[in-house]
Formats: sequence, C-alpha cells, structure tokens
Amino acid sequence: MSNRVSAAVAGIAPSATLAVDAKAKALRAAGENVIGFGAGEPDFPTPDHIVEAAVAACRDSANHRYSPAGGLPALKTALAAKTKRDSGLELDPSQFLVTNGGKHAVYNTMAALVGPGDEILLLAPYWTTYPEAIRIFGGVPVDVFAGLDAGFRVSVDQLEAARTSRTKAVLFVSPSNPTGSVYPRSEIEAIGRWAVSHGIWVITDEIYEHLVYGDAEHHSLPVLVPEIADRCIVLNGVAKTYAMTGWRVGWMAGPADVIGAATNLQSHATSNVCNVAQAAALAAVSGGLDDVARMRAAFDVRRRRITDLLNAIDGVECPEPEGAFYAFPRMEGLLDRSFGGTEVDTTLELSTAVLEHAKVAFVPGEAFGAPGYARFSFAMGLDDLTEGITRIADLVTA
Ligand code: PMP
Repeated sequence: MSNRVSAAVAGIAPSATLAVDAKAKALRAAGENVIGFGAGEPDFPTPDHIVEAAVAACRDSANHRYSPAGGLPALKTALAAKTKRDSGLELDPSQFLVTNGGKHAVYNTMAALVGPGDEILLLAPYWTTYPEAIRIFGGVPVDVFAGLDAGFRVSVDQLEAARTSRTKAVLFVSPSNPTGSVYPRSEIEAIGRWAVSHGIWVITDEIYEHLVYGDAEHHSLPVLVPEIADRCIVLNGVAKTYAMTGWRVGWMAGPADVIGAATNLQSHATSNVCNVAQAAALAAVSGGLDDVARMRAAFDVRRRRITDLLNAIDGVECPEPEGAFYAFPRMEGLLDRSFGGTEVDTTLELSTAVLEHAKVAFVPGEAFGAPGYARFSFAMGLDDLTEGITRIADLVTA
C-alpha cells in the first residue's frame, strides 16, 4: 500500500460530524425513525428573496461564463459594506476572497499561512476541520483546552503556556462550534493584545456572528485590537446566518499579500465560486437582517428547551449555550455503565449505543478533542428535539 496515496492526504481523518450524519441518514433510509442532532445545519429554507436573486442570475448569460477567481466585484463590495455594518471592521473590497463555503476559506487560509513545523494554537474543544486543515500543510495543531468549568473559554495564560518559537497563529472562534461559548469583550481584547505583542497571527472565524443569545454579544477581534490588522484573517460565510449551507459561499478577509496569495491558489484549484451562488450571497448580505432575527428567535427557544431537557438527565451537565446552535454537555456521569446490553466506557461508545438503541444521533466529544462531552446541534424543530432527548433519557434511566 505504500505511496498509493500521498502521506499528507492519507493522514486526513474523515469528518466525524458528517460521518454521524451519514450513519443517521442511512438508518433513516432503511426505514428507521432516527432523530439526528449531528449536522450543524439550519432546518429553515433559504429566504425567498435570496432564492429569487439566484433564479434571476441563472437567466443572465453573463453568469454562464467564468468570472474573476477572487469573487464577483459586486459581491466583494457588498462584503466590505456588510462587514462594516455588522462588526464595525473597515476593509477594502480588494481585501476579500470569495470561497466555496467557509470550510474552503479555512483551507485557503492554512495554505497561505502554514508551513512545515508551524504551530497553530487551537482553542479546544475545536471544530473538527481545523486540525486536519493545519496538518495538510505540515503544520502542527496545538490544543489549548478549556472545559465546562472554565466556560469553554481559553485564557491568555493558557495560550502563553502553549507558545513556542514555532507558534505562527492562534485560531480564534466565538461564538464557538462545538461549545456554543461566546467570549466577552475583555477576553477577546486580551487575546488580541497578547497576539500583537508576540507577533502571532490571529485567524478569527466569525461564521456564527449573528447567532448570540441573552446578554451575549459578538465582538470582532480586529475591531477591538486594530493593531492586529496586518496579521489577522477573518473567516465568514452565508451558510449559518442565512440558512444557506448548500449554496457554498464563504470568504476570507485580511492583508493584501495573504489574500493575493490565496486568490492565486484558488485560481488554479477551483477558479471562481459558482456565479449563481455568488448572486444569492450578494442578495443575502445586502438584504436586511429580519430573516436572521426570526431564525435566531427560533434557535433561542430550542436552545433553552434542549438545555433543560439535557440537564434533567442524571449524569448529564449542560451549560446554556450563548451562541451558535450547539449544546455541549458533559456526559461523564453516563460512562462506565451499560445501556441496552451495550457496555459504555467512552462518549464515542455512548454515541454508538444511543444510535443503536434509542435511534438518536449526536457527535461524541472525541471528534472535537473533548472526550467525556458530546455535541448536540439544536438547529431542528422543537418536537423532534424534545422527542430525541426524551429517548436518550428513557434509555439511560431504564
Ligand atoms: N466555521 C465553523 C466554526 C463552522 O462550524 C462551519 C460549519 N460547520 C464552517 C466554518 C464552514 O461552513 P461552510 O463551509 O458550510 O460555509
């Protein structure tokens, strides 16, 4: 088997979140009534005005042709305006690269910044894609862990303890996938200042910027610490905010040299993002935020429901998520037991047992560098959500 697949690609782990989702969908296709908390995907349809813009774009023959690799000029101008409106960050349209989803923006950013041996500090629990995207380019993901007792928020002291002469960047994400934590302004400022003082890059993933609840507020790190501008990449996309996961439009924004290099890479890898999808994204980011507010209000109700239901299960501890659409309970109290005749010692085994015996899918913490925890996406209807958690409660209390 040697050399058939390159070492870099052979080392990539499959996406655990997509794997859980695929398992649930396969069971469902086989006629099982499975409730899936796996995928981080809003259940709402994409708002009508966005779909209509895409339909119109289909009929315009200009969109049947190649367009600039870095993105439609009108979309880049709209992204600059949207960024200023939503977070207060002022950037020139030339500082944006439109990508095939936020995931592709993560990949392009790592390609542009990471070389062999470069260490990237990852706030753990982390989104599964980050470490793989770092490793592809020979980089070393370094986990800096903050669990439930720390509110899932990493401190500057922890980052400083993990810093070495090879530290190139810190990958910051708030609101967080998978934990739903939102960093307060003072902690974001402290992380930004620490990065500036050590010449460390900040990659900040703002894809959940509009999904914050209660008193939580989203703050963009380069707005709070403008001195980071020359070493900061902002990642974002339309998937979560506008229920547009299938349209595949994201972007990265930052200093001209990095954006230029990433654009060159993209010009050889994919050329432009589908023009019709870009037209839809243009309608999304230049429209108002009413649809976003409506979806956020629905998520907020589900968020409180799922937290209550999970906390009612003996052995499960679930802090209220402050952002995104994930609950991230500690499930250690359910380990070293047996459910439906299956011995369960880890959250990975727990997820398999629950899928088998209760027909409920969730992603075990192992996928996020956090054994003992689990991620439940609550981007689903209230009835299914209630039924799913109730099934778990019934299984573990039987
Ligand atoms: N960043 C984070 C933190 C995410 O959770 C996701 C989606 N799971 C993305 C980026 C990428 O989303 P997409 O590729 O669908 O735009």
